[in-house]
Amino acid sequence: MPQTYPFLDLKAINRPYMAEMEREMAAVVSSGRYMGGERNETLERTMADLCEVKHAVGVSNGLDGLTLILQAWRTLGLLREGDGVIVPANTYIASFLAITRAGLTPVPVDCDPDTYNLDADAITADDLKRARAVMVVHLYGRNAWTAKLRDIAVTRGLLVIEDTAQSIGAHSSTPGLGGSHMTGGLGHAAAFSFYPTKNIGAVGDAGMVTTDSEELAKTVRALANYGSDYRYHNIYIGSNCRLDPVQAAAVSVKLPSLSEVSRRRRENAAAYAKAITNPLLTLPQIPANPEEHVWHQYVVSAGSHRDSLRAYLAERGVDTDIHYPVPPMHQPCYADFPGKKDFPVTDKLASEILSLPISQATSVSDITAISQIINEFTPSV
Ligand SMILES: *Cc1c(COP(=O)(O)O)cnc(C)c1O
Repeated sequence: MPQTYPFLDLKAINRPYMAEMEREMAAVVSSGRYMGGERNETLERTMADLCEVKHAVGVSNGLDGLTLILQAWRTLGLLREGDGVIVPANTYIASFLAITRAGLTPVPVDCDPDTYNLDADAITADDLKRARAVMVVHLYGRNAWTAKLRDIAVTRGLLVIEDTAQSIGAHSSTPGLGGSHMTGGLGHAAAFSFYPTKNIGAVGDAGMVTTDSEELAKTVRALANYGSDYRYHNIYIGSNCRLDPVQAAAVSVKLPSLSEVSRRRRENAAAYAKAITNPLLTLPQIPANPEEHVWHQYVVSAGSHRDSLRAYLAERGVDTDIHYPVPPMHQPCYADFPGKKDFPVTDKLASEILSLPISQATSVSDITAISQIINEFTPSV
């Protein structure tokens, strides 16, 4: 049978942790305590320390984490219904959904053609007039916090929420508002996802909110627990968005290998950069400080040949993906989207980009072999 290259082999990724994960998850089952508890607290402490902030609140998933932060700011009177939140047009739909779910208005901004992340130079005066907050999405695992963005946020007094779903462990050379250099500690609050496919994934849904603000942490925790500050006392119209301790146990087993996971992904990215020579492809930039990228995705651009390249690779056993084929503003759920919908860089990328296998389960020799196949690609027209 010819060799095949899966895009993301979750079973292989979890294999080294399997025995300990089963032990730790079983320990939750035999403990008789199925909500909150020691494992959640340990994971919260570890995530706060990682981000160099004071507080972390375990939540049900990344989308709920983002939504809860924005709802908490509304509850605290820092945002009002309809306020604008600047968000990169090139992102996963969850970034937009969180803003809409919190009764706020997404203000999309085009992305930088080199980093595929929010382009601070593309923020217009009109965007700033509408916006009270900015959502910094570290897409593909690349830090998106820049000196320019920091400057805009500080000058304009914007609230800064980070979508760190793809960037766990990524550093920023530009310091955050409170002095941290870690994504998740750069703005006023951040939401992580431990969805199984993320760099550190659970075996189901899980997420984490990080922040320096005690007031925000408390409000998020209450909102995630029926709006209750203490038992049978409800101060907010809350929801149920708590972290499952069985998932916290699984994540805690994997989290200590975060730097090894990032190192392996950087090694794979460097291997692609060295081995792919096909001039039809544009490869992702490796940042000057390699610690700024944790390579959640390795996204190449193949111009008008994207779909034929993808089909060619599939025929040769190389599994690929597209992140993302349709930008959020063009999804049917946003048919009535208020404001600008067309963003030249983002819209072009959607038809040209392709994600190659990059995870720690893909070896450097796999990368070399995939690159060789790519180098032999010639478009049929
Ligand atoms: C995965 C992801 C989310 C949502 O996380 P879930 O845990 O799946 O809710 C949000 N934003 C981005 C950029 C993501 O990749």
